[in-house]
Amino acid sequence: MLRVDKVRKAFQGFQAVADANLTVPSGMVTAVIGPNGAGKSTLFNLITGHLQSDSGQILFQEENIAGLPPHAITRKGIGRSFQLINIFQRLTVFENIKAALIAREGKTMNFFLPARRLFNDEVWDILGEFGLADFAERSASLMSYGDQKVLEIAIALATKPKLLLLDEPTAGMSPEETRKIVQLIKRLSCDQGLTILLTEHDMELVFDVAQRIMVLHQGRTIAEGLPEDVRRDAGVRSAYLGEAI
Ligand code: ADP
Ligand code: MG
Repeated sequence: MLRVDKVRKAFQGFQAVADANLTVPSGMVTAVIGPNGAGKSTLFNLITGHLQSDSGQILFQEENIAGLPPHAITRKGIGRSFQLINIFQRLTVFENIKAALIAREGKTMNFFLPARRLFNDEVWDILGEFGLADFAERSASLMSYGDQKVLEIAIALATKPKLLLLDEPTAGMSPEETRKIVQLIKRLSCDQGLTILLTEHDMELVFDVAQRIMVLHQGRTIAEGLPEDVRRDAGVRSAYLGEAI
């Protein structure tokens, strides 16, 4: 579904992504792992058009999307959640989902037009599907961090992406919140066949959910393949300085 080929990105001379290669097969969960500062978020921002690569190719369903703006890439079918929560804190949970649906239709946001009521059934469906119905009228800022992340993923899915990118979806979460996210990832992948690309620092989680792993180290891809092969890779082991992975 996605292929990243020799992609590079420098910030004022600092090579954040030096040589990244990645294959994301359709219908699988693929994880990009690597120490803090390895370039994972930068790579995601390159894929979604939030940053422009200096060179290399990013092929989404055989089409080079490098250089396209974020909204064009969203329209082609790539949805994402950010490493930090990216929702409208002052809107209710209901309004957040509704805003996403309106944005999907490419219309400007106006909650007061009667036509906007058309979305209400779909909003309730989504709230039900993600277990958020009880929070519908609540301000998003009052939800737990874990529930805000679920909302963020629900918003990303409102655009009906073919590929969902999740940047450290469980960062800063309690074990219970983490379990919720893991179940959600598995449900989206197994039941709905969604293709997912994620970054994650929790290795236990990575080996639990990912069918394929790419290891980024100082901006370079140093290993890519099946989880068990990556785990045994000598280069990966030395990059993690003997940490258990
Ligand atoms: P990761 O997500 O793997 O922790 P990042 O992609 O966030 O890593 O960052 C990779 C490197 O690039 C880090 O050294 C970071 O400080 C640097 N970096 C990221 N974004 C910028 C930016 N906008 N300007 C300058 N340096 C940046
Ligand atoms: Mg990051």
